[in-house]
Amino acid sequence: MRAGLNDLTDVVLKKMMAVFTAGLAICLVVFCSSELVAQSAQKIYHNGKIITVNDTAPTAEAVAVRDGEILAVGSKTDVLRTSDEKTELVDLRGRTMLPGFVDAHGHVMGGGLQALSANLLSPPDGQVRDIPSLQQTLRDWMKDNRQAVEKVQLVVGFGYDNAQLAELRHPDRDDLDVLSTEVPIVLVHQSGHIISVNSKALELGGITKDSVNPAGGVIRRRQNSQEPNGVLEETAAFPLLFKLVGRVGPEGAAIFLRAGADRWASFGYTTAQDGRSMPDMVKIMQQVAAAGDLEIDVVAYPDVLVDRNVIKQEFNPNYKNRFRVGGAKLTIDGSPQGFTAWRDQPYYNPVGDYPPGYAGYPAAQAEQVIDAINWAFSNDLQILTHSNGEAASDLLIAAIEAARKVYPQKKLRPVLIHGQFLREDQVDSLQRLDIIPSLYPMHTFYWGDWHREHTVGPELADDISPTGWCVERGMRFTSHHDAPVANPNSMRVLDATVTRRSRSGDIIGPSHRVDVMTGIKAMTLWAAWQHFEEDRKGSIEVGKLADFVILDKDPTSIDVNTLDQIKVTETIKEGKTIYLMDTDRQGQNAPASNDPSFGKLLQAMSRPISDRDLANDQPPVLAASITPGCPTCVCGTLSQLVNAAAGSVGGKPEQ
Ligand SMILES: [Zn+2]
Ligand SMILES: [Zn+2]
Repeated sequence: MRAGLNDLTDVVLKKMMAVFTAGLAICLVVFCSSELVAQSAQKIYHNGKIITVNDTAPTAEAVAVRDGEILAVGSKTDVLRTSDEKTELVDLRGRTMLPGFVDAHGHVMGGGLQALSANLLSPPDGQVRDIPSLQQTLRDWMKDNRQAVEKVQLVVGFGYDNAQLAELRHPDRDDLDVLSTEVPIVLVHQSGHIISVNSKALELGGITKDSVNPAGGVIRRRQNSQEPNGVLEETAAFPLLFKLVGRVGPEGAAIFLRAGADRWASFGYTTAQDGRSMPDMVKIMQQVAAAGDLEIDVVAYPDVLVDRNVIKQEFNPNYKNRFRVGGAKLTIDGSPQGFTAWRDQPYYNPVGDYPPGYAGYPAAQAEQVIDAINWAFSNDLQILTHSNGEAASDLLIAAIEAARKVYPQKKLRPVLIHGQFLREDQVDSLQRLDIIPSLYPMHTFYWGDWHREHTVGPELADDISPTGWCVERGMRFTSHHDAPVANPNSMRVLDATVTRRSRSGDIIGPSHRVDVMTGIKAMTLWAAWQHFEEDRKGSIEVGKLADFVILDKDPTSIDVNTLDQIKVTETIKEGKTIYLMDTDRQGQNAPASNDPSFGKLLQAMSRPISDRDLANDQPPVLAASITPGCPTCVCGTLSQLVNAAAGSVGGKPEQ
């Protein structure tokens, strides 16, 4: 009897729910609308799994789109009610749809520059394992881009890492002279702080055996000689690098942005961040946006120590032509893998010439940090702060605590970027002070082994990017790639956040692994929330933007150890397909000669370098806009590099 009654109740309830849902659908579609007639769907996606990232209705069978927004989502029957004879039915063919990824922290313009250069990364992101394979990669790239090289008279390669090369050394001028003695070749180390050049580039830069090391830089020499060997560090590298790349000018910089946006879209990102913009870059981004050339949204955070006016004047909570300035960026310290993160205790076993007890150092003074945070709060601006070491995070927490006391009501969602070496008590402070942790679990893959052996040691390495402590506290966090430091590879971000598997296959901090849905939220809904965009983005719900990514597999139902092999097959921005996977080349650099934008780059770079005596050029424009506080931040170098291009011709002719 009881069972029978329950069954009956079930049936009645189900019927009531069906009537209610249908009624709701009709209400949403017709009666609740101001335009009663023109409310049928333009597109309906169906026949695949739809992961909505909406906890109240986690999956759906279909989603309807109209005017770039989500019109209906739910069962196929319900959603089909929004169709008419003109509605296009899009068959997902069993693939999985998610909300478009929102970039919690990256540098989209720097990513574009990288996309147009030779890829010198080591596996899995590139093919370079030793000096011969580095030479072969460059040889292939020069062949693929022969016309470009001939016209531009420049070869740029990005991302080699001496620690990943079999020879454990930097390539030198002899290694590169084999490739060309006529065209300057510049290779940028993955850290962005060291370059390796051939003899022609040294000649153009006027760097000889008589050159003295500049303050803060080193011209490395051949053994037992004063002759430069082609490897230039820090301030010895930047002027030459900026001069060579800066020659592309604003038009070239605009191409970097378009190439970066394309690259982000190819990994399913429908919102990209430019996480430390210089004033000239903001101008370029606005111009590209105004020309209607942005296919994804780009939100920029200009450097608060460089120019506060541009932040205050250009801040906009809404996108204009897919671009907006979202707030300010501050950098407190450097990179953990490069031993420049500012710690509260000595590094474990740093590689290099470090004094005993070396604990890194701040890149910004305490007064600068306190002043910048206070300025952001007093001007109602969100501030993103690069902070890796424990001491850097202590300073950030203290500065925000002080600002919160003065402005207790302000809801500005300050963000801590990276937080690689956070202590557990600091995570408590982040929760108490409503600071969003934007973490970087990709480090567990790329540098997990390095952290164990060198930076913090085996015990503390387990707690890098401590997502588990956030989950335990019920905190929202986001997960980022910091591209072009690494590729903007969304599935690698997800994989690292979920599995924390290192290059060698070890698990770095098993207790910090999170479930797949949490990993997805950290790249969608929570990342949208970080940008104050959760009303429009981050989940598949009625009224939000029709920003989607389509994956070839369902990340919630496969072996998590294969998450990194999932392919982004399609990216949709406001109902329009902007990326379709056509080959297996996803994530690789397409030959620039095949890239239609490269033709424009060539035009921008049309004056051959040999026309000029670079040694007699004025100091690079960059010198004026280099952040005084951030000599060691990886992303900083790339921002400055792109800005060199953005600002190099802007207004004043080169000499
Ligand atoms: Zn950073
Ligand atoms: Zn960054």
